[in-house]
Amino acid sequence: MNRTHIKWIPVLLAGIFFAYQYFSSEKFVNPETGRKSHVGLSTEQESALGLQSYRQVLSEAQAIDSGPEAEMVKRVATRLAAATGTAGAGFDWQESLIRDEKVNAFCLPGGKIVVYTGILPVAENDAGLATVLGHEMAHATSRHGAQRVLQQNLAQTAMTGIAVSLSDMDYTKQRAVMGALGAGTQFGVLMPFGREHESEADHIGLIYMARAGFDPQESIRFWERMERQGEAQPPEFLSSHPSHGHRIQQLQSWLPQAEEEYQKANKS
Ligand SMILES: [Zn+2]
Repeated sequence: MNRTHIKWIPVLLAGIFFAYQYFSSEKFVNPETGRKSHVGLSTEQESALGLQSYRQVLSEAQAIDSGPEAEMVKRVATRLAAATGTAGAGFDWQESLIRDEKVNAFCLPGGKIVVYTGILPVAENDAGLATVLGHEMAHATSRHGAQRVLQQNLAQTAMTGIAVSLSDMDYTKQRAVMGALGAGTQFGVLMPFGREHESEADHIGLIYMARAGFDPQESIRFWERMERQGEAQPPEFLSSHPSHGHRIQQLQSWLPQAEEEYQKANKS
């Protein structure tokens, strides 16, 4: 036995399985940005899981089916869905407005959208709501959830291989190494990955809203409103999202492209 107490066979096997998991996974090219990625779920699995969560959420909530607010959500979601192009072609879009003061909205894989009444005062108008929904719908059409599943599976394989290879090591040391690796994976791999997804959802969401005929300039005003209201109560769905300042800067850099889409939408 060598002095480091590291067994290399488990590392090698984990490496082989890691490569197998990665290379046998489905590849996905985002039709809006051209970004290539690998996913850990098929679109059918995504839709099934999305539908299951949607039903779960609705079963525990008070949905609002009529009135001006429900109509606003329906109007904005329908126009945005039509603007998702090939990425959203296989989606079965559906939207629900839920009476809840949470400042939140999300779109599940496969196209089920949930909006909480708490976000409507911040959305203020159709274009404001389109900013949020465009972003959330872009997460779904970009298959970010399925990408995260694969990422987590790969991280799990790597961690298991390392844990087995260290099994001869002193227990306290072992735990210290695994803890450091776990934190390293979280902050070095999974979080930057999350930030990349946020940025992509902002970019594509902006394109969607402009293509659907909503003024893309409103996205800047919406995030400014969000920033002001965030001082009192940090919105839940922003927890993994970038800072407002950084986000607004990025949005401004994409505005010329969005303006072009907006012009086209106004002509047609
Ligand atoms: Zn997001």
